[in-house]
Amino acid sequence: MEIKELNIEGYERVASCIDGDYRGFIAVHSTRLGPAVGGTRFWKYDSDAAAVNDLLRLARGMTYKNALAGLPLGGGKSIVLRPDAEVNREEMFRAHARFVDTFGGSYITAEDVGTNPHDMAIVRQETKHVAGLYGLSGDPSPFTARGVFRAMQAAANYRWGSDSLSARRIALQGCGNVGYHLAANLHGAGAQLIVSDVDQAKVELVAKEFNAAITSLNDIFASDADVFAPCALGGIINDDTIPQFKVEAVVGGANNQLLEERHGEEIERRGILYAPDYAANAGGIINGCRELLEWEESQTTAKVDEIYDTVLAIFRTAAAEKIPTYKAADRLAEDRLTAVR
Ligand code: NAD
Repeated sequence: MEIKELNIEGYERVASCIDGDYRGFIAVHSTRLGPAVGGTRFWKYDSDAAAVNDLLRLARGMTYKNALAGLPLGGGKSIVLRPDAEVNREEMFRAHARFVDTFGGSYITAEDVGTNPHDMAIVRQETKHVAGLYGLSGDPSPFTARGVFRAMQAAANYRWGSDSLSARRIALQGCGNVGYHLAANLHGAGAQLIVSDVDQAKVELVAKEFNAAITSLNDIFASDADVFAPCALGGIINDDTIPQFKVEAVVGGANNQLLEERHGEEIERRGILYAPDYAANAGGIINGCRELLEWEESQTTAKVDEIYDTVLAIFRTAAAEKIPTYKAADRLAEDRLTAVR
């Protein structure tokens, strides 16, 4: 195993590792609040520089997400470069685990894009610093969906003066893990759903179970609705979609919803309330605490429900300081990091 330290300013430790066919990177952005937690991405990049760029952005994002959610966890991330040839996953993830282990618990990994609980079970063979294992905290998406639902109640309260989503029209993009559970919560609260998904079976299931109207992949943005709930792709708030929105709020589970930061400003200018993605979708990582910190399920649920208060605090801070909500979220996360210093 050949480890190289990358010494990047603002990060506690960033290193690369080569071990046989394995090539990986780990970044610990901050352990100020606790061990740095963030998943392992198994992905192909155009260059090492592109991979490190992504790694640094994602690790820092985890620090902010965990801080804002009030968790005793820091932020980190890892990337395993996916080779062109077919790989032996056991060899890959065992090597990655040995690299993770050199961090001595200051970095804890879990699944992310391109990895799954089976890979994490392999990682567990070589290090105990891993979460997201079978039979422990389990599927995070019902918790993520619950948090998004609470964020939507906060938006309703802020915009219309009541938490009630009864008879509100919600345009929901993506009926996958998070979208399905969010639809269940919303239907239970009496909301009316308009849904889209590239996967016909998934959209039909949600339509049938939750009495939702199906719309096309393009028409979802211009839906005659109160709230747009992106639960599929990132970059969905952009120059093309913003002019189409008729909604008064955007609250969803998807990661990295703003294509660029300026879209956070643009959406505000149009009077649309935006619940920052990493505040609204923190339910999944909060669920991870059940496994990492041995929380009871009731503690986990209570913490997920606090997303309501966090999102309201973001809206109020944004209004008081005349800044867009995405900046207010960062500000609140930084306040917590500073307070704990
Ligand atoms: P998923 O793959 O189960 O669901 C995504 C759904 O979006 C799929 O059904 C897919 O067919 C659909 N989709 C893809 N392109 C689409 C398009 N153009 N229009 C409409 N639908 C489209 O994934 P998920 O776990 O539900 O995650 C959804 C989003 O939430 C992702 O951005 C993910 O990063 C984010 N997220 C998920 C969790 C979690 O707990 N699963 C936690 C935090 C953030």
